[in-house]
Amino acid sequence: MILIVGAGLAGLSAAYHLSGLPYRLYEREQEVGGLCRSYKKDGFTFDYTGHLLHFRQAEIKALVETLLAGKLQKHARQSFIYSHRTYTEYPFQVNTFGLPPEVVRECLMGFIATLTNQHAGPAPDDRSFKEWILDNLGEGMAKHFMLPFNEKLWQVSLDELTSDWVSWLVPKPELKDVVNGALGIKDKAFGYNPSFLYPANDGIKALPESFLPGIDGITHGAELIEVDTKRRRAIFRDHTKGGTREERYESLVSTIPIPELIHRCLDFPAPLKEAAAALRWVSVYNINLGIGREQVSDKHWIYFPEKEYPFYRAGFPMNFSPSLGRPGCSSMYVEMSHKPTEHQSAEQLIGRARSGLEQASILRPDDELVVSDVKDLQYAYVYFDHHRAKAVPAILAELERRGVYSVGRYGRWEHTSMEDAIGQGKQVSERLRAQYGYQASA
Ligand SMILES: Cc1cc2nc3c(=O)[nH]c(=O)nc-3n(C[C@H](O)[C@H](O)[C@H](O)COP(=O)(O)OP(=O)(O)OC[C@H]3O[C@@H](n4cnc5c(N)ncnc54)[C@H](O)[C@@H]3O)c2cc1C
Repeated sequence: MILIVGAGLAGLSAAYHLSGLPYRLYEREQEVGGLCRSYKKDGFTFDYTGHLLHFRQAEIKALVETLLAGKLQKHARQSFIYSHRTYTEYPFQVNTFGLPPEVVRECLMGFIATLTNQHAGPAPDDRSFKEWILDNLGEGMAKHFMLPFNEKLWQVSLDELTSDWVSWLVPKPELKDVVNGALGIKDKAFGYNPSFLYPANDGIKALPESFLPGIDGITHGAELIEVDTKRRRAIFRDHTKGGTREERYESLVSTIPIPELIHRCLDFPAPLKEAAAALRWVSVYNINLGIGREQVSDKHWIYFPEKEYPFYRAGFPMNFSPSLGRPGCSSMYVEMSHKPTEHQSAEQLIGRARSGLEQASILRPDDELVVSDVKDLQYAYVYFDHHRAKAVPAILAELERRGVYSVGRYGRWEHTSMEDAIGQGKQVSERLRAQYGYQASA
């Protein structure tokens, strides 16, 4: 029997693609979706912060389009950066037109310097994230966007982070694109993810729910609390009926965060337990607001690099799905990072969000907040640092030796998307199907 823990996208996809093989899927919460969920409050539907679909893998795109046939809408991305009291298009490095001329000059000169510096020889592979930014984008872009934005998001010195994950998320632009962007010349051949897909109704929860007809049953309210990897035995706390239950398994697919899993694996080697406990991450407060005024912004989402704004990003769900709020109103999600051990009250957070939004002239002092709510996303962005680089491959290899496959964003401890979580669930099922002598699923 295969045991799957966690009914987020990775766990749901694993179950969906196992069909034919006996499995059980356990989830701590009463609903599916994990981070990819939506909830209703007083006539508004909010995601656990904005979740938009961008695809790089044709087969996962095709799967999602089949599962959500007729329910998805395509949108031309309207994402901006707000700095120097000006909106510029995202991504910053190819869109500096409109910023004060001195800022544009610093960005251009800094970027040009990175091109001439390259002749000094190949850059080392183990550059910190900060060094990567300076080497690839230059001092101006570092100063005016990349450093302040990322320091706010990560809540740690960027010297402590490695750069091995960066290049696919922040591609180095070509000089032509940087110059065009500084002069306001639109070259439509260029653009990172210029469009996205999103369900027309009900929020992003439509995606995890679309897997349910293909799944044999989920035990909700069941929290994994203990694993004996030698005897292949897992214990769950039953939050619905009380008490605990034991499951025996041949293979375990875990999609819960690595530190949580290893903490529960009683017989795991002590050095790897310590390594898992030393993994670091940042949490995010997701502040959801309903505002008693239509179209407080015409944008989809905005990045805020400057220190005076306590949030790093804010988005406007009703601008890509009007049915997510009450007529005559607007809705917003606001994202503030925090260290996992530091906490603020909902009242404080809503107050800080509101005053920052007024300062940015998005909200007006007389705007009524008809709904305000805060969710704390405990695991949001994992740190890629030197410790992670050594610890995670060793932990994953030892888990597999014991029949445990750890997948998903926090199961592999990485920065990956909904598409990747679905892809990893599919992949692990295909491995298990091959192992158990079943043919690969379509
Ligand atoms: C702020 C933020 C914004 C994002 N925006 C986007 C976006 O716009 N587009 C995009 O593609 N991706 C986005 N992502 C990434 C996306 O949310 C994830 O890649 C994806 O949802 C991860 O799915 P998962 O199944 O791997 O993990 P999770 O969603 O974390 O699922 C894990 C599941 O395990 C359950 N669980 C945990 N512990 C236990 C336990 N002990 N016992 C039983 N069950 C347990 C949880 O309840 C959960 O249901 C964003 C992520 C963040 C943090």
